[in-house]
Amino acid sequence: MTTTYQNYIDGAFVESGGATVDVSNPATGALLGRIPDSDAATVDQAVTAARRAQPGWEKLAPIERAGYLRKISAKLRDNRKELAGVIVREQGKIRQLAQVEVDFTADYIDYMAEWARRLEGEILTSDRANENIFLFRKPLGVVAGILPWNFPFFLIARKLAPALVTGNTIVIKPSEETPLNAFEFARLVAETDLPKGVFNLVGGLGRSTGEALVTHPQVDLITFTGSVGTGSHIMQAAGRNLTRVNLELGGKAPAIVLADADLDLAAKAIYDSRVINTGQVCNCAERVYVERGAHEGLVQRLTKLFEDTRYGDPSERDDLHMGPLVNQAGLDKVAAAVEQAKRDGATVVTGGKPAELGKGFHYEPTLIVDARADMDIMRKETFGPVLPVQVVESLDEAIALANDSEYGLTSSIFTRDLNAAIKAARELRFGETYINREHFEAMQGFHAGRRKSGIGGADGKHGLLEFTETHVVYLQTP
Ligand code: NAD
Repeated sequence: MTTTYQNYIDGAFVESGGATVDVSNPATGALLGRIPDSDAATVDQAVTAARRAQPGWEKLAPIERAGYLRKISAKLRDNRKELAGVIVREQGKIRQLAQVEVDFTADYIDYMAEWARRLEGEILTSDRANENIFLFRKPLGVVAGILPWNFPFFLIARKLAPALVTGNTIVIKPSEETPLNAFEFARLVAETDLPKGVFNLVGGLGRSTGEALVTHPQVDLITFTGSVGTGSHIMQAAGRNLTRVNLELGGKAPAIVLADADLDLAAKAIYDSRVINTGQVCNCAERVYVERGAHEGLVQRLTKLFEDTRYGDPSERDDLHMGPLVNQAGLDKVAAAVEQAKRDGATVVTGGKPAELGKGFHYEPTLIVDARADMDIMRKETFGPVLPVQVVESLDEAIALANDSEYGLTSSIFTRDLNAAIKAARELRFGETYINREHFEAMQGFHAGRRKSGIGGADGKHGLLEFTETHVVYLQTP
C-alpha cells in the first residue's frame, strides 16, 4: 500500500482529502508515496497557525528557542541512517552524500542555535546630550520557506534554524520532487515539545501550494531556493503584498586554472565539485578556463577521473560517485545541452550521452573540450555531470570571461602565484571564490549570489540577520 503523507499544521498531522502528488524513485521509477497538493485554504491554515504562534515564540528567551532547536537536531542524529535512506530513494543521491547531508543538517541547526547568546543590537551616540539610540534586532514574523530538490533536507534547516532562533515562525513547502524527507522531518519534530504552529509543513506543487504561499498577505518573508525563472516569478508575486524576498537561485560557476597550478589538485577539486550530486548543485564548477600551458595536463587528468566514475542506483550500491538525475526533464535538458555543444563545435572527450542502465535517469559523466565563450554550454546552467573546458591566454582573459555571465554565485581559481590569487579575489564578481579547493560553502560563511543568482544570502551571521529587522528606539531622559 502506498503511503499518503499528511501536512503538519499547528502541531498536528492533518487530513487533506484533496488532490495528491506521486513521489517516485529516480533510479528505478518505483512509486514511493503520495503527498497532498495543498490548496489555498490549507496554506491559509498553515500561515494562520504560524501567525498565531509567533508572538509567544518571540517572547521566549532566545536560549529557550535554541533549546528546542537542539531537541530537533538530536532527533535527526538518532534517526540519521533512516533519514539518509529516504534521501537516497527519493532524490537518487549516493548514500555517503545523503548521510553527509543529514549530519550537516543537524550540525547546522546546532550552529544556528549557538547564535541565541550572540545576537547583538547596537547603542548609538545621539546628537542630543540626554538621549541614547538603541538598535534592536527583531524577528520579521512569519517566514515561508520554499525548497528545491537537490539538497532537500539541508535546505529545511537553512530556512528553519535561523528563522526560529531569531523568533520567527515558519511554513515550509518542500519540492514536489523530493518531499518525503521533509515529512519525515515533521514526524521527528512532532516527537519534540516544540510549541504548536512554530513549524508547519505543507506539501504540493509550485503552481498551487507555492503560489498560495507566496501571495499570502500574512507572510513577512519568502525565502526561496530554486531556479531563476521561479525566483523571478516569486519576486513579482511578492510585489503584490510588498513581501520581502530572499532568493538563492542558479549558478554557472567558473573554475580558472593557471599554467602554474598544481594540476593534480585542480583536476580532483574541479571533478569533485562537478560530479557531486550528479552535477545538480548550484555552486558546482560548471565551466573551466585553463591557461594554454596547463590545458593538456588538466584534460588528461580530468579524462581519467571522468572515465573512472562509478554511477548507478544508489539504493543497490554504496561505492558510487554518482546516482541518476532527478527526473526525465533533467535528463532531457542535460542531453540537449551536450548535443547543442557538439553542433556548436565543441568536442566530447568522454561520455556524451544518456547511460544505458536499463532504468533510471542516468547520464554519462561527460568532459568537453574546444568550448568557446559564445556557446550555451559555457553560458547556461547545465545541472548535470557535464564539464566544458575552454583555453585562455591569460589571467585577465579568464577573469573577463568568468565575469561575463548572468550568474554570480561561486567561482574558483587554481594557482601557486599569490598575486594572481589576490587579483582574482579582487576582480571576480561573485558571491564566493574558492582558491585551490573545491566549490563548497561553510555554514559560518555567507552563501549569496550576485546578478541572477539571487538576492540576499544564507549562512553565518549575515544569513541570520536576513531573518531580522531593525527597530530603532530613541530614549530621551529629562
Ligand atoms: P524550481 O524553481 O523548479 O522549484 C523550486 C521550488 O519552487 C519547488 O518547491 C517548487 O514547487 C516551487 N515553485 C515552483 N513554481 C512556483 C510558484 N509559482 N510559486 C511558488 N513556488 C513555486 O527549482 P528546482 O528545480 O527545484 O531546483 C533547481 C534550481 O535550484 C537550480 O537552478 C539550482 O541552481 C537552484 N539552487 C540554488 C541554490 C542556491 O543556494 N543558490 C541551492 C540549490 C539549488
